[in-house]
This record gives sequence, structure tokens and C-alpha cells, in this order.
Amino acid sequence: FKNAPPNVRALWLSTAAFAERDYLVYEDERITYAEAHRQVASIANWMFSRGVKPGDRVAIAMRNYPEWMLIYWACACTGVAAVGMNAWWTAPEMAYGLADSAPKILFADAERIARLEEQPGMLGEALLVAVRAEPPAGAVAWSEVIAHGGALPDVAIDPEDDLCIFYTSGTTGFPKGAQLTHRSCVSNLMNMMFAGQVSGLATQRATGVEPPATPPIPVTLVTTPLFHVTANNCGAYATTAAGGKMVLMYRWDAGEALKLIERERCTTASGVPVMARELISHPDFDKYDTSSLLSVGGGGAQLQPDLVAKIDKAVATARPNTGYGMTETSGIITSIAGDFFVDKPASCGRAMPTFETKVVGDNGEELGPGQPGELWVRGSSVIKGYINRPEATAESLTDGWLHTGDVAWLDEEGFIYLVDRKKDMVLRGGENIYCAEVESTIHQHPAVAECCVFGVPDDRLGEEVAAAILLQQGETLTAEAIREHCIALIARHKAPRYIWLLDKPIPRNANGKFLKRELRETLVIAEAS
Ligand code: ATP
Ligand code: MG
Repeated sequence: FKNAPPNVRALWLSTAAFAERDYLVYEDERITYAEAHRQVASIANWMFSRGVKPGDRVAIAMRNYPEWMLIYWACACTGVAAVGMNAWWTAPEMAYGLADSAPKILFADAERIARLEEQPGMLGEALLVAVRAEPPAGAVAWSEVIAHGGALPDVAIDPEDDLCIFYTSGTTGFPKGAQLTHRSCVSNLMNMMFAGQVSGLATQRATGVEPPATPPIPVTLVTTPLFHVTANNCGAYATTAAGGKMVLMYRWDAGEALKLIERERCTTASGVPVMARELISHPDFDKYDTSSLLSVGGGGAQLQPDLVAKIDKAVATARPNTGYGMTETSGIITSIAGDFFVDKPASCGRAMPTFETKVVGDNGEELGPGQPGELWVRGSSVIKGYINRPEATAESLTDGWLHTGDVAWLDEEGFIYLVDRKKDMVLRGGENIYCAEVESTIHQHPAVAECCVFGVPDDRLGEEVAAAILLQQGETLTAEAIREHCIALIARHKAPRYIWLLDKPIPRNANGKFLKRELRETLVIAEAS
């Protein structure tokens, strides 16, 4: 991939050809490619008129509004690194992100502006632009930015330049600002296109029908936040490069998603796997026309094997898919879809072409097929490092190898099976127990809606297995029945010793991933007191 188009500016420029096609849809608003091009050029010119230069940073702190993408492309085309601020951050977290990334300009929506006001001073030297909000004193109105006009400034971009700073989800600790480069993001786009080809073939094998010579123009339901790689580098890039339409959701809601799929004729609805589960088990699912869907699934967390067949059954036209990836790989490492996935529902697929992979044991030795160890990956999609964190960078990246922190094994055909995060393994009396395996087992019970497994301290064994479970509406399963269900399927010592039956959904982060760390703390502390 050394010869890949060196920067994302080339990608954006090529999309001018899509002219009057719809690009961004938000509620009743529609922006065509032509209008998006006009606005992106205007934003870039306005930023430059305010002294922003290539190499500077500009932050975006807002929900999934169309403006998010337009600001992002304006930065990407001019060598300015866009900082994706997590819109769910509280005022102190925002203050951390702003101090860490030191942007020249902050584009923020009303809720984020209110947070700035909660903790005065965090803006520092940055100039504030109010998007879909009244500009406070000293801030600039969005209408001024859009009215500026002009052609896209001509800027030379090096493939190794920072394209954007995206913060990791903060599942295992404090979010880290990952430096995604033009090369890493173009590489991921090529992987996404490759994955699309492979899923097309998988579909053909199932139905015996030749895929159309011209693949349908993608219509992507954007269910997760644009400041993470799932929605941005995977969803937005693949859609934009193909001249497709992005249908933006402010927040995830399965009923709303069904309405939008029918109204906009969406071809893909992917986010995190729990969204796919909610979508296909929605009580009104059959009332909507979902026949435009070609793929349903998601990544970012394990797609439980039971869901693979359920998706296939629920949506006649669509095949299940998943991908495994990280902020640190600018998107996907693996992908799997269609029959491949139905045949191997516990796998997250094979590594994409830009990656070398190896599975590494505790003493740094390389392990063979079937043996679980930490997965290391290397290649052009990997980030440059984390901003302001030389130690974390040195720990995660050695000789170009990214230590994913995920435990995995490969089968003889190169399919990867994720076992767990290294940090999430439960060490019970010297035995490693993988939460993901226990979660998949619990999910095989039809009464279970959501489930999260984790370790809790135990005087005798060091750690014990615990599970928090939300049952499907109207179900009345007991903790003992869940334990029996597990013991019938997996070794007795892996069955959860403690089970909390929750009366509300498991808390999630902005990306829809379970907040396991926080859940564990709340439950264990509540139990102890
Ligand atoms: P932090 O690094 O701040 O602790 P995070 O790791 O959740 O947070 P992301 O970069 O958003 O931040 O997520 C990457 C991680 O998500 C992977 O390392 C892996 O543990 C998990 N993950 C991603 N895709 C999958 C998948 N298909 N199956 C299982 N786990 C997945
Ligand atoms: Mg991580």
C-alpha cells in the first residue's frame, strides 16, 4: 500500500463527480455532494482567514450533525488535524481533551457550549464557533463560516501528516488521543472496499444469484458517533467514496432506525452488535419495509454467535457481518460476512490486506494456530502514536507492531477468534476465564436481552466470575436457572458465581459499548455496603 493515493484530499475531490446526489441526511434536511463541496471549501477558507495553518488542530465537539462531516473534510483537505471530541464528555473531560489537543478553533453545538460555560477557561486560546446555537460573546456564528465562500485552498499534504486525532473509547482507562494519518485512513478505506467485495462473494455463494455488475449505491444508517472510527473511518469513508448517502442519527433508537431504514431505503445498518440485536428483536420490526438492507451487523464489541443466524433469518435480503478494529488501526483489522460468518459465527474474520499479524505468548514468543495469546498487528493502517503520551506510545508500538491488548487465536485458515481483552480476563484460582465465552453462553438463553460478565474480588480464589443480566421484557428467569443453563454448556468453574438481574439496560458509552468497569464498580460497591 506504499502506492496508495497518498491523502484523503484526493478522495474528497473525487466525490465532486457525485454532484446532485444526496450526501448527508439529517431529519428533514438534505445536503447534496455539490452543496457539501461548496460548504467544505467555505469552511476551509474561513479557517485560513482566521490564521489556521496546515499542521494546526481544529476540534469538533458536537453530536452527529451534517456539519460534523463538512468540518472534518475541510480539515482533511487542508492538512489541518481534526480533533474528534467525545460529545458525551462531561465538562472536566472536555477540559482534558481541549488541554490535551490544544486546537486553534473549536466547533461546538449548544450542549457542548453549555459545558464550556460550566467550567470557564477551558477554551484557552481557541476561537469558538457556535453550530446550531446562539454564539456566546466572542464566538463566531456558523452562518458566517458558511457564507465566507471561495474555492478549496490548494495545500500539499504528506501521507504521514496527522489527518485527525481520535480518542480511544476509554474502556480500559483514560481515553488516549490517537494520531490517524492520511496513509492510515486511506489504507483503512481500501480494506473496507476489499471487505465489501468479499461480502458480495459470500452473498452470492448463499443465494446462487450473481451479484449485480454495478453494486447498489450505499445508503448507510449512521448509528454511532462520528468521533469514533466505526462511524467515521468505516461507515463515512466507504459511503462517501462510493457516492452514497449517510443517514445520520442523533442518538440510537431501534424504532427510529426502522423508520429511517424504510424512509431512506438504507442498505446497511451497522453499529455495535447490541444495536443489531435491538433492531431485529424490536416488537414493530415486521411493520416496516426493511427490504433495502443488504447487510446488518456491527463491530467494536463481540457480535454474539447466536445473533449471526438470527440476523440472517430476520432480514431476508441482508446478510450478517462484523469487523474487529481499534482506534489505533484507523478502522478494521478483520471483517467477515455472509456465509463465511454463518459457517464460523465465533470468528471476527481474517486480517485485511494491509496487516501482518502474530499471536504472542507471555514471554514474547510467537504462538501457532489454535493457541491464544496477545494479537499484534503491523501495517499501513496503524496510527503514528498517541499525542502527549510517549510512554503509552512506546508500550503499544514496538518496531511497528501494535500490541492490541486483545487475546486471540487463529485457525489453520487464518480466521481470527477473539477471546477477550487481556485486562478483562478473570483469573480464578490460577485458571484464565474469558468473559466473552461466558457472555456468549448466557446469550444462548432466549430469555436474555443483555449480559455483561466480569471478575469480582474473592478472598479464596483471587477472583470470581460475576454476571449482570437484563432479561427480555416479561421474562422471569431466576439466577439459579441461568447458572444451570451455563453448567450444561461450559465447565462448572466458568459459570457465574454471582448474578445480578438488572431492572434497566446496562450502561453504555458513546459508542454503545457496555461500561463494564463502571458497572462492576457500582454493583460490587452496592453489594459490599
Ligand atoms: P480504550 O483503548 O480507551 O480502553 P477501547 O479499546 O474500547 O478503549 P476502541 O479503540 O474504541 O477503544 O475499541 C477497540 C477495542 O474494541 C478492541 O481492542 C477490542 O477489544 C474491542 N473490539 C473491537 N471490535 C471487536 C469485535 N468485533 N469483537 C470483540 N471485540 C472488539
Ligand atoms: Mg483500546
